[in-house]
Amino acid sequence: MGYAAPISRERPPMATRSKRRPQPVHQMSSAEFDARFPIGDEDACKTYLKARRWPDGAVCPRCGNPNVYDLKTRKWHWQCEQCAPDGYRFSILVGTIFENTNKPLRDWFKVTHLMLTSKKGISARQLWRYMGFGSLKTAWFMAHRIRTALIEPETKLGGIVEVDETYIGGKSINKHGGKTGIHGGTRGKTPIGRRSLRS
Ligand SMILES: [Zn+2]
Repeated sequence: MGYAAPISRERPPMATRSKRRPQPVHQMSSAEFDARFPIGDEDACKTYLKARRWPDGAVCPRCGNPNVYDLKTRKWHWQCEQCAPDGYRFSILVGTIFENTNKPLRDWFKVTHLMLTSKKGISARQLWRYMGFGSLKTAWFMAHRIRTALIEPETKLGGIVEVDETYIGGKSINKHGGKTGIHGGTRGKTPIGRRSLRS
């Protein structure tokens, strides 16, 4: 006798999971960034976003259901049948600041990277020039959205940045440098500001 074993979806333990996550975007050098995200390669960005956001596979952003279906007809889209009778469809971008934007994901990543790796911070004007955006307003808007997302405890950046207080405002970066153990979870990470934009 016995029960039928429940259908199990094996989940690897935490340690294994975190290994599968690529390093956050702010810990990359400029060269690493450009190698990982070639210009125009949106799929590279989405692959990375998925690995950072959902290392165990897509999860419904509305109800948290991990048993979602990959929509074969639409790349980077899934369907959850738990929170909507007809199925709730969502993309990799839903619930992040990259949703509903007409800018390539690569631009968002690059601006995030520039903002978090430039030692003295970067102005909207500098971003505008560097990125070659049509308007200063675009640069300002993106920077504003990213900065706001860094302060929010949520996952608006899709996990591409590991947010802790050392990132907010780009200040107090080295404040805890000597107090190892207090911020045990952040040990071994490269705080922003220490990494130069070398190429
Ligand atoms: Zn759902």
